[in-house]
Amino acid sequence: MKLLQDKVAIVTGAARKRGIGLATARLFAEHGARVAILDLDPEETRQAAAELGDPHMGLVCDVTRREECDAAIQAVVRRHGGVDVLVNNAGITQKRGIMEVTDEDYARVLDTNLRGVLHMSQAVIPQLKSRGGGSIVCISSLSALQGGGVFGGSHYCAAKAGILGLVRAMALELGPDNIRANGVAPGLILTDFSRGGTSDEYKHEKARSFPLRRVGQPGDIAGACLYLASELAAYVTGVTLDVNGGAYIRP
Ligand code: NAP
Repeated sequence: MKLLQDKVAIVTGAARKRGIGLATARLFAEHGARVAILDLDPEETRQAAAELGDPHMGLVCDVTRREECDAAIQAVVRRHGGVDVLVNNAGITQKRGIMEVTDEDYARVLDTNLRGVLHMSQAVIPQLKSRGGGSIVCISSLSALQGGGVFGGSHYCAAKAGILGLVRAMALELGPDNIRANGVAPGLILTDFSRGGTSDEYKHEKARSFPLRRVGQPGDIAGACLYLASELAAYVTGVTLDVNGGAYIRP
């Protein structure tokens, strides 16, 4: 069964080969969606879209820039006639102690992880309304729940926790328009997110203590996004889905 047949989906930060975003874009495409990959690097974005092939598209878009978000959505609407699903996945991290976070660090991390979600959601919401509804999925983090993880500093935890507040507010306000908003909180996932700061071996070793005894794969998060984007989750809004192999189990 194809869960997103003929839907138009946008995934931000989706060009990295080993990233959660591209895994999500691939899975959405397999399920019949027409996908727009948004990311920073033009060549990487072109290659990622080329991998998916026609009718999927790649657009350069820095989510910290409102005008680029608006322009990207307009380009998708021109090509596909509307938008049904947005996955706010773009993110960066910095490993810092609380006393090391500078104003520049704070602005960079909050702007990308949190302001970017606001920009993209604001750009997409009118489109979802005009289609009679849709789904917004926002990638938060286990760091938001437990105050830290393997990669993130305190500003990253704050940004990822802020996303969950934004998700709940959007769920409340947009529910009457049949727009659902949900979060996904990944645990330790095998990507290049730390940009070499943490080896794959370390992640595998660390994950041995998790209840499911393995590190997460990008596809594990893609599966959660697919569920929340699809009609299987038609009555689900305002939640955060923990996808962490049991590394953190809420009371
Ligand atoms: P990733 O491969 O680094 O993916 C993040 C993507 O976002 C990259 O392609 C990056 O582009 C892009 N990006 C950064 N700033 C952007 C901006 N201003 N506008 C548009 N795109 C931007 O890492 P990932 O692990 O797949 O992370 C995806 C999401 O999962 C992030 O939100 C992250 O916080 C979250 N997450 C990851 C983990 C984990 O263990 N990996 C755990 C919890 C949460 P560049 O490559 O050009 O920088």
